[in-house]
Amino acid sequence: MYKNVSYWEQNVFIDHIDFAIIGSGIVGLNAALTRKKKYPKEKVVVIERGPLPSGASTKNAGFACFGSISELVSDMEQNGEQAMLDLVKKRWEGLRRLREKVGDQNMDYQEHGGFELFYENTEDFSNYKGYIPFFNQCLADIIGIKTVFTEVADASKFGFNKNIRLIKNTVEGQLHPGKMMQTLLKKARNAGIQIYTGLTIDHVEEVNECVLLKSDLFDLSTQQLLIATNGFTKRLIPNLELQPARNQVIITKPIPGLRLKGCFHYDKGYYYFRNVGDRILLGGARNKSPLEETTDIFGTTAIIQETLMEFMKTTILPKSNIEIDHTWSGILGVGPSKSPIVKKISKRIGLSVRLGGMGVAIGTVVGEEGANLFD
Ligand SMILES: Cc1cc2nc3c(=O)[nH]c(=O)nc-3n(C[C@H](O)[C@H](O)[C@H](O)COP(=O)(O)OP(=O)(O)OC[C@H]3O[C@@H](n4cnc5c(N)ncnc54)[C@H](O)[C@@H]3O)c2cc1C
Repeated sequence: MYKNVSYWEQNVFIDHIDFAIIGSGIVGLNAALTRKKKYPKEKVVVIERGPLPSGASTKNAGFACFGSISELVSDMEQNGEQAMLDLVKKRWEGLRRLREKVGDQNMDYQEHGGFELFYENTEDFSNYKGYIPFFNQCLADIIGIKTVFTEVADASKFGFNKNIRLIKNTVEGQLHPGKMMQTLLKKARNAGIQIYTGLTIDHVEEVNECVLLKSDLFDLSTQQLLIATNGFTKRLIPNLELQPARNQVIITKPIPGLRLKGCFHYDKGYYYFRNVGDRILLGGARNKSPLEETTDIFGTTAIIQETLMEFMKTTILPKSNIEIDHTWSGILGVGPSKSPIVKKISKRIGLSVRLGGMGVAIGTVVGEEGANLFD
């Protein structure tokens, strides 16, 4: 039922939507751009519950990565070598498409490399170091260079203690997620895509040759619908193999003389940190409190914040005084497989969700594939 909507509003904004997308993250905006390019005359509408995009796309760490060695080994053990390689290919292709679409200068893209951190003399370090030749060989064709991974001779140049060892991914980059999303929003608006913010969809269903979208403000109908709500999707589609996973992030005040530069991964990707100019951003540690962090509600908790601070003081910047400037959280969509879900669930409703921890890399392609599910 329309709730105090004028004839004019109904006529222009609500009726006759050809293609609607729920969620204005990297996936939703890329889907909208793809659809509008294919069918320029269509009314393409993106619906977003927040005043800004309010999911992971504006709250992430800005790693332009496709997997550290320990993550790739874990992917291979879980799903086999070919599935691991297919995922790397998708992430690499996604990063290429993102850079082409947004432009490096519009999102402060910089390639300082990615580093996986280990303590020396651990079984983990000798085990993963042994995989360097294997991954260099099998990634050479995908990435287009012979040496993707190398061991760093001296980790103390970044300010780490002498007992830290690093394996470098030479082609990993970093970017500014806020600027990336601002550019995508501008592109969408310039293309004639309408973006309705502050509208939470509570229910979707296919009825009478269209899809009905219900919200507490008013209801809409569209010919076709793509759901791009990632970690929040179970609120709309409860029976999906997808779980929300909250990730907490902290960023320091500027640190004079900071030597750390690049993106760093630790503990199979559960901890991640990077420089943002002369600050350090650190996030993760959700494995410290897995039950509490299986939620789609934003928030921070003492246990994770203390764990992150401890890691910062003991491992990242052992000899410095650190002041935290800002903390926040974001919600991932994860599941039993690292592959995203891109499929139709009925004739007129499709999904592009479950991006996992590398949605910056795969978001562009997952959005494009979602739009292309429909004629
Ligand atoms: C803290 C953190 C750090 C990360 N770091 C990295 C990284 O460094 N590199 C990387 O590759 N990936 C990273 N990721 C993952 C990456 O950010 C995500 O995979 C990606 O942004 C997902 O994009 P999306 O468009 O699918 O979802 P989102 O960006 O979450 O967008 C979904 C949108 O849907 C909206 N929405 C939800 N429900 C409704 C509803 N019912 N009605 C209307 N609107 C709705 C939300 O408000 C949101 O804006 C990180 C994630 C987090 C949380």
